Amino acid sequence: MVSTSSALLTNALAAEEEKLLACVHCGLCLEACPTYVATGDENDGPRGRLYLMRAVKERRLAVESPTFETHIDRCLGCRACGGRTAALLIRCSDLPCAMFG
Ligand code: SF4
Repeated sequence: MVSTSSALLTNALAAEEEKLLACVHCGLCLEACPTYVATGDENDGPRGRLYLMRAVKERRLAVESPTFETHIDRCLGCRACGGRTAALLIRCSDLPCAMFG
């Protein structure tokens, strides 16, 4: 059974689909992200977190999964990734990860 909070988060991500799909995977954000710089793990960068959020939104990954919780929890909410992207539709304040920071 899906918990209420999981369903709410999945629905919130679904409402942000346009922003999730705006990422063009350019990687320009990576060097600005302190957690990616510290770990070198794609899932600890903005691009990886967007990918994980898409997976949850598309119900390929559970909100409660250790992968999702770990890498989203590591986001500092610093928004250093904002403005460091080729997808000019995305601004730092628009990033879905701002919901978690
Ligand atoms: S807000 Fe999160 S994803 Fe963006 S640069 Fe900061 S730690 Fe990285």
